Amino acid sequence: MKYYSLNNKAIKVSFQEAVIQGLAPDKGLYFPEHIEPIESDFYDKIENLSNEAIAFEVIKQFVGDEIPEATLKQIIAETLCFDFPLVEVEKDIYSLELFHGPTMAFKDVGARFMARCLAYFNKDETDSKNTVLVATSGDTGGAVASGFLGVKGVEVVILYPSGKVSDIQEKQLTTLGQNITALEVDGVFDDCQDMVKKAFLDESLNHKNLTSANSINIARWLPQMFYFFFAYKQLKQSEKSLVVSCPSGNFGNICAGILAKELGLPIEHFVASTNVNDTVPRFLENGNYNPKPSKATISNAMDVGNPSNFVRIQEMYNHDLKAFEKDFSSFSFSDEETIEVLKQIYKTSGYVAEPHGAVGYLGLKKQLETNTESIGVFLETAHPVKFLEIVEETLKVTLPIPAQIESVMGKEKKSIKIKSYEDLKSFLK
Ligand SMILES: *Cc1c(COP(=O)(O)O)cnc(C)c1O
Repeated sequence: MKYYSLNNKAIKVSFQEAVIQGLAPDKGLYFPEHIEPIESDFYDKIENLSNEAIAFEVIKQFVGDEIPEATLKQIIAETLCFDFPLVEVEKDIYSLELFHGPTMAFKDVGARFMARCLAYFNKDETDSKNTVLVATSGDTGGAVASGFLGVKGVEVVILYPSGKVSDIQEKQLTTLGQNITALEVDGVFDDCQDMVKKAFLDESLNHKNLTSANSINIARWLPQMFYFFFAYKQLKQSEKSLVVSCPSGNFGNICAGILAKELGLPIEHFVASTNVNDTVPRFLENGNYNPKPSKATISNAMDVGNPSNFVRIQEMYNHDLKAFEKDFSSFSFSDEETIEVLKQIYKTSGYVAEPHGAVGYLGLKKQLETNTESIGVFLETAHPVKFLEIVEETLKVTLPIPAQIESVMGKEKKSIKIKSYEDLKSFLK
């Protein structure tokens, strides 16, 4: 499989090159040259397949022969070493829990898959090193740190906005040591993301073999398709159409869902639910794509003013807004609405959600006013314990601390404070 740059279709690279580069030399995101729907036989028998077998069918065309089949199966098995339960919260409304992995957010899936692909591509390198440079609004940092810890030939540098991630998120990305360094940026997430993008374009850093582990990297983005198939597998029997709502920030998850639909997965409608960082909902309303600086909210992993993956979604619809709107809606919600609905979900069903999942639930409910005969799924993208204070305060509950989180709580934070791109550059040099 070849991947082209969304800025210039003439730039084409292999899967391996796209993973190693992250972003194309012209700053464009990579996109698969050809997307082949999976044969109907696969969908006919999906309920009899294991998660690993499904994942292999889904990803194989995108990797091609660049990783041997047995190795790819091994990578998938190590990536999917936890469960993806679908919990019925109320009649015909399900929470797809993506938080049972090592850092308790969905990003474990992409980060673990990408780390193992990179380790495979590096297996024969003795002296050249890759540097993974990543900006995090909260959960990417921890997932990438955990996924890449100890991976041979890879240095990981994580930029996060000082004071704008939760305590547990900060612990997860600043306490591991070894090949992981955390840079604490005096700014917001978009500042971190801008610095990372600038570094990729900086010729004087070429020798560092920089790559990204944000969802702009295809090895992070593509495996995020897997769990949409896992949800379908469990709901197929009902024979009702499916509406899926993704709490969205950089739009990687929803973009993976739409790609899954291109592979033939029968999802009727997607909802991108956002907090007040509403660039996409505004775009759908007035046709102008007008990104604004991000605002801090209680669903901090979605505090993104200019979602990177939106261009990939537009590519899948040939930039045809009409066609796009048939399959896709996007709604924005305030922190007050999020708090209210967290309480309401808990009161009516006893289910403890967290702010991101709650935003997803809000968008789903809104869409189901139109798709009244459908089954709805919202992604619960992180464990409530990652947003301990806000969840405990809102619901007046005490959450038990899972072992994965317990193990980082007592560790000492180590970060390097930076203010500007020049600081980042001198660190990398
Ligand atoms: C990253 C993240 C999101 C947003 O996902 P995108 O793929 O960037 O849209 C939502 N919720 C949580 C908990 C996250 O960590």
